Amino acid sequence: MEVKTDIQSAIVSIKSKLPEGVSLVAVSKTKPAELIQAAYNAGQKEFGENYVQELLEKQAQLPEDIKWHFIGHLQSNKVKHIAPFVYLIHGVDSLSLLKEINKQGQKLNKIINCLLQVHIAEEESKFGFDIDEINTFFFSKSAINYPFVKVVGLMGMATNTDNLKQIEKEFKLLSQLFEALKPANNLTVLSMGMSSDYQLAINCGSNLIRIGSAIFGNRVYQK
Ligand SMILES: *Cc1c(COP(=O)(O)O)cnc(C)c1O
Repeated sequence: MEVKTDIQSAIVSIKSKLPEGVSLVAVSKTKPAELIQAAYNAGQKEFGENYVQELLEKQAQLPEDIKWHFIGHLQSNKVKHIAPFVYLIHGVDSLSLLKEINKQGQKLNKIINCLLQVHIAEEESKFGFDIDEINTFFFSKSAINYPFVKVVGLMGMATNTDNLKQIEKEFKLLSQLFEALKPANNLTVLSMGMSSDYQLAINCGSNLIRIGSAIFGNRVYQK
C-alpha cells in the first residue's frame, strides 16, 4: 500500500512550510500504531491522541522518545493512566480536572505541562473556559494552588464552519488573549489550528498546530 509513503510525504511537506517556531502535532486518533511508526520514521516525534485507552495501547508499542500530547476531553478518573508519560495535556477545561492532574503529578513527583482550553467557538458543544474565567485564573494567580501543574499556554478550537472570517475572528480573539497573558505568566504555547484551518491559525499567531486528516487521511469511526 502507498498509505505509508503518503503519510511520510505529507509530514515532510507540511513541516517544510511551517514558519520558524511553529511545531506540528500529528493527530493519530483511530489510526493504527503501524502508521504512527511510519510518520515517526519520517522524523515526526510529536503525536496527539484523544482517547485514553487507545493512547495507552499505542504508547506501549511505539518508540519511547515519542512526545504524546493528549488533545481530547480528559475525564478526571483517567488522568492517572496517562500522567506518568504524557508530554502535554491540551484540553484542560475545568479546575477540578486541573486539581486531579496536580494530584497525580504530586504522586509521581512530576510537574505535568498543561494548556487551558478556551471556548472560542459559537457551538455550545465545544469544551473550555470562557475568556472571563481565563482572565480570573491568571489575575488571581490560581496556578499557585497547583504546584505539580505547569500551565504553559492556551488551546482552542474554532467553530466548525466554512466561514473563514468567523474562524479568523475566533483565532484572533484567542491570540490576543494569549499575547496579553503571556509576559506575566510565562506562557509559551498557543495551540490552535487543524487540517482545514492551520494556515489561518498560524497567520493569527498559533505556534502549535494539531493536524490529523491532512497527514493520515480521513478517519473512519467504528461504532
Ligand atoms: C481530531 C482533532 C484534531 C485533528 O483534526 P483534523 O481535522 O483531522 O486535522 C485536532 N485537534 C483536536 C482537538 C482534535 O480532536
